[in-house]
Amino acid sequence: MTRATETTASTCCYCGVGCGVLIEHDGATIHGVAGDPNHPANYGRLCSKGSTLHLTGDLAARALYPELRLGKALARARTDWDSALDHAAAVFAETIREHGPDSVAFYISGQLLTEDYYAFNKLARALVGTNNIDSNSRLCMSSAVVGYKRSLGADAPPCSYEDIEQSDCLLIAGSNMAYAHPVLFRRLEAAKAQRPEIKIIVVDPRRIDTCELADLHLAILPGTDVALCHGILHILLWEGWIDRAFIDTHTEGFDALKALVRDYTPAAVADICGISVENLQSCAELIGKAPSFLSLWCMGLNQSSSGSAKNSALINLHLATGQIGKVGAGPFSLTGQPNAMGGRETGSLANLLPGHREAGNAEHRAEVAAYWGVDALPEAPGLSAVELFEAVRTGKVKALWIACTNPAQSMPDQSKIHEALATCPFVVVQEAYATTETCRYADLLLPAAGWGEKEGSVTNSERRVSHVRRAVPAPAEARADWAIVCDFARRLEQHLRPGRSSLFAFASPAALFDEYKVLTAGRDLDLSGLSHALLDDLGPQQWPFPAGASAGTPRLYGDGVFPTASGRARFVADAYRAPQEKREARYPLTLNTGRLRDQWHGMSRTGTVARLFGHVEEAMLSLHPDELRRRRLASGELVRLRSRRGALILPVQADESVRPGQAFLPMHWGDRFLKGLGTNVLTLPACDPLSKQPELKHAGAEVEKVELP
Ligand code: SF4
Repeated sequence: MTRATETTASTCCYCGVGCGVLIEHDGATIHGVAGDPNHPANYGRLCSKGSTLHLTGDLAARALYPELRLGKALARARTDWDSALDHAAAVFAETIREHGPDSVAFYISGQLLTEDYYAFNKLARALVGTNNIDSNSRLCMSSAVVGYKRSLGADAPPCSYEDIEQSDCLLIAGSNMAYAHPVLFRRLEAAKAQRPEIKIIVVDPRRIDTCELADLHLAILPGTDVALCHGILHILLWEGWIDRAFIDTHTEGFDALKALVRDYTPAAVADICGISVENLQSCAELIGKAPSFLSLWCMGLNQSSSGSAKNSALINLHLATGQIGKVGAGPFSLTGQPNAMGGRETGSLANLLPGHREAGNAEHRAEVAAYWGVDALPEAPGLSAVELFEAVRTGKVKALWIACTNPAQSMPDQSKIHEALATCPFVVVQEAYATTETCRYADLLLPAAGWGEKEGSVTNSERRVSHVRRAVPAPAEARADWAIVCDFARRLEQHLRPGRSSLFAFASPAALFDEYKVLTAGRDLDLSGLSHALLDDLGPQQWPFPAGASAGTPRLYGDGVFPTASGRARFVADAYRAPQEKREARYPLTLNTGRLRDQWHGMSRTGTVARLFGHVEEAMLSLHPDELRRRRLASGELVRLRSRRGALILPVQADESVRPGQAFLPMHWGDRFLKGLGTNVLTLPACDPLSKQPELKHAGAEVEKVELP
């Protein structure tokens, strides 16, 4: 058996914790993986997913060669890279010529590296001339982006992982950290073992595994987080547990919020949230009396039709208590994907531009256009994820490029997404795994390099940029994402700007990073002092890291100055709004979807590792035992779970962690595993009005027994 002889330091490609890994390999094949003891995200720890990364190299699942079909009724056939990219460039050019730049779109991923993102962005905005570039981070973090910007003036999580260990009181809201960010949860667990006096409050409709550490669990009714935060603030005000000096000196808008929360009395909020007044009081007291208070949140707040309001309502609590900018304190969103942060930084959402700029801001567009050496950047607003696929479905977008993501499985109201992909005249899918539901719709499939095969950088949840290093070559003809994008772009340039020097003459990901970082200089995220070489010398660093800096920045806003026009943080006074779908007789259950401990997204990677099915073998619908009794169902029986949009058949299980009236279904299983479509055939495309993030965690549903013949 071949043994590993080399070790390459890189990062885990799963969640936003961004753990460092040591890849053991022989230069051709990866044989093992270990946690990097020197990486500040994990100090050697890995979770079940990270520690089995070396087992995910199954070539049977990989895309290995470019494949093309020249008609929807035909099967794809293997082709070579030149033919594949020449064909793609010709189709995109013709579509743009005939229907305009907004008739094409790019849908990319929080799993791409920063350099990949930057190349895609430049391709869409500078060459094609469209803002139709969005990312699956829209489904993940766009509400946090809006929350930070509205409240603090910039999309910058102000804390560090070490604050999790140093805080006196943590509020974990809408985040099953034990499953979704396991290494951070282990760090918190170790801190609590050392300092049992740390108070931990978990806010989640289910009794999730994260509750194992909780001193207080608030099992609020789904979607009622804004009311909860306003109720806590009401009590903080009543009891005088606020920091008046901080409010007066460093914030604005407090009076309007104070007037709003007057009506959020403990009794009213307890009623809205379905919790006791006593527990609400206890929560406020823990926060109000804590020397330091940190909040952590994830999809429970973000994936909501009021996601932006939820984010700001939580940040309000920090501003009212002055709990920001100091050790162990602050609002700290946990990013789901390994480089969702890099996407935000490079401007890879339709409404953004590189360097935390806005696509809707003429000055920002002019700055980027001048740097890129093009006349102008497009002004027309781009389409966010849900809008984008609807535009594909209705024929407005005619050529679609999808990279490193599986919208046929992950987007809400999945049947419509399948309809869109089936009817889109030209679909390019750039993917490492050929097994995704989306690949089925590819007219052109481009094989991409995967984990351990790529070079670049990522930013984790604490703003820490790590150098991602390649250990082995990609299999067969798979290529790095940045290289695919730049090669395609150069061919498209021959159609759209012939005879002019290329905007995509990059020889390496380091060259892309060096061009990109200049666009961050002087901005809140300034990482102009970083380079791949510097990351090799100093190790992973937190931005801002301006030119000339010798170390990163662990904590923001310690001086009480915020990047708003006035320099003050803003209280946001949004009233509570109920989720879009109300409970009603035909759909009396509230369906929540979420992660399992050992699976990742649509399981294209984790689904190749048998060991990872040891925790949960198959998709099951979780219902409270009372709901099973009411319907005369037993655990293990097959049920038809239906919402207003579709239905699935799957087994049901009694689960006391789910409250009566609610249901929980893992998000991971797609139609490769379930009969019919996947979990998201049931979810709805209603979005937050500001962040455009869809409400993936709250759908009306009902179950009925499936009678076997
Ligand atoms: Fe990978 Fe996240 Fe697990 Fe760390 S916690 S090993 S980044 S999946």
